[in-house]
Amino acid sequence: METYGIDIWSDDNFVIEDGVVKINYAAKPALISLVNEIRAEDYKGPLLLRFPHLIEKQINKLFTLYHNAIKEYDYKGKFNAVFPLKVNQLPNFLHPLINSGEKYNYGLEAGSKAELFLAMTYNKIGAPITVNGFKDKEMIHLAFIAKKMGHDITVIIEGLNELETILEVEEETSLPTPSIGLRVRLFNSGSGAWAKSGGIDSKFGLSSTEILEAFEMLEEKDLTDILTMIHFHIGSSMSTIKPLKNALKESGHIYAELKNLGANNLNSINIGGGLAIEYSQFQRTTQYNLQEFANDVIFTLKNIAKQKGVDEPNIFTESGRFISAPSTVLIAPVLELFSAEYEAEHLRLKELNPPLIEELKELYNDINSKTALEYMHDSIDHLESLLKLFDLGYIDLEDRSNAEILTNLIIKKAIWLLEVDDFEELKRIDNKIQEKYLLNFSIFQSLPDFWGIKQEFPVMPITHLDKNPTRSASLWDITCDSDGEIEFNEDKPLYLHDVDLKKEEYYLAFFHVGAYQDILGMRHNLFSHPTEVNIVFEKNEVKLEKILETQKIIDILEDIDYDTKEIKSILKQRLDKNTYSILKSYLDQNSYLKTAWS
Ligand SMILES: *Cc1c(COP(=O)(O)O)cnc(C)c1O
Repeated sequence: METYGIDIWSDDNFVIEDGVVKINYAAKPALISLVNEIRAEDYKGPLLLRFPHLIEKQINKLFTLYHNAIKEYDYKGKFNAVFPLKVNQLPNFLHPLINSGEKYNYGLEAGSKAELFLAMTYNKIGAPITVNGFKDKEMIHLAFIAKKMGHDITVIIEGLNELETILEVEEETSLPTPSIGLRVRLFNSGSGAWAKSGGIDSKFGLSSTEILEAFEMLEEKDLTDILTMIHFHIGSSMSTIKPLKNALKESGHIYAELKNLGANNLNSINIGGGLAIEYSQFQRTTQYNLQEFANDVIFTLKNIAKQKGVDEPNIFTESGRFISAPSTVLIAPVLELFSAEYEAEHLRLKELNPPLIEELKELYNDINSKTALEYMHDSIDHLESLLKLFDLGYIDLEDRSNAEILTNLIIKKAIWLLEVDDFEELKRIDNKIQEKYLLNFSIFQSLPDFWGIKQEFPVMPITHLDKNPTRSASLWDITCDSDGEIEFNEDKPLYLHDVDLKKEEYYLAFFHVGAYQDILGMRHNLFSHPTEVNIVFEKNEVKLEKILETQKIIDILEDIDYDTKEIKSILKQRLDKNTYSILKSYLDQNSYLKTAWS
């Protein structure tokens, strides 16, 4: 049976049992029963299911890995972690994260003023805050205010001008000065799709000359004590450990050199984010084991400290994708299978049909399990010839319709025969016979990284898993954009079930969508975020919490700055009272499609 690589990517968070996907936790509820429960309350369209227990699991995992490694190597520094807000800033995600992190003193990382406001408000006092990204005087002033609020805040300097501004604000105000870190521009760059976050030509960080200058600037003002951290971030989704090890050595030596120059309070190395999540359904792409990863970090830093005779530094990490990606699952209802319209009852065969149509009829009547593959390919060839004949004017529209229906019927029959007799052969047959599945969602809104950088996400149906999937599938969203498609890929084939949507429902789940997708998502065609729900386990009970419905059409229009009163009054003027009142109720609905199963 097809398992959609669940053993590769799901980390035991989800399992297939009784033909459905279940959450591998507590009483193991099935995704389909949660979906049905939510939809029974009249929430239609795509759904985002968030699982706070999976946020907690990842946080526990991260801290356990490093605590193990620290113990193993008798390391003297402490382990600290912050969550980078840019990876997911939404309240339904952030509140559970803060709760689960409290016991570890887990903090937040901010990369913009708005994110810093969130950190200042929701971070537990005493848990660390780090501030990255480009900063102006106002943002630096905010950091001073956060320090006054009692936050343990470290401003990471990306350029010397930022340090100048800090020294300026320090002189101008009576507020306490936050700690600072220096982001180093590494010679050893990262790996993976986001490698340009690190490296010598990186957008971020100080060169070695600038680091020395920065230290001199601090010495001049007698402020070397505010320097506590060295920071680097080599990019997201590291697939091997090697680049990190190189970066650790480089920054470890910078740390030690600065300590020996007299940076007395320098005590931490912040290794940024980049811990990978397995997105592939076909083979493991992450070439390291997480414990090995943490051990390498501790071991490398321990050696450098020993070699240079300095204290073993505290370690900070800012992994975001690793913490948040598994926590969210997108559910998209299938609206339509494109071949469903090709039914025998729609045939309009004539007394006298073109010879190729007659041949298609014969293929359809004679096909058996031995001839299935051959007849299917013949029928596709015939269809191609008939379409050419249509373009040349030799056959009419009825003939063309008959050709399309017969070919699709032959394909379906061949698939059925092969499924029974030679399923492996069926899986090998070419992608000419793929089925198009229309999904009630927007790729631009819900999987923007697929659109932007062809990021794969694990995808599978949440039911029917006790049956063989027989259709090579391409997935279409409901935007009017030809990029709103996940094409069938022969190297990474997706097979789905042949379902009759008039009789049964069929949902696809996309996993690991909890990192970056929510905020990167765009409202192409004015499709807004899906309805989202937190799935919370209390003892053995599962509860739906914090249901946040997708936006109404009228609210989306208001969001893009239309005067909604004007919209309503113009529509009202142009219609009679009754029709207008119907229209008004439509404005209060969302943009996603509504059908029995949608
Ligand atoms: C984006 C970012 C992170 C998070 O990276 P992940 O790959 O999601 O772990 C951490 N630190 C900095 C400075 C970042 O810019």
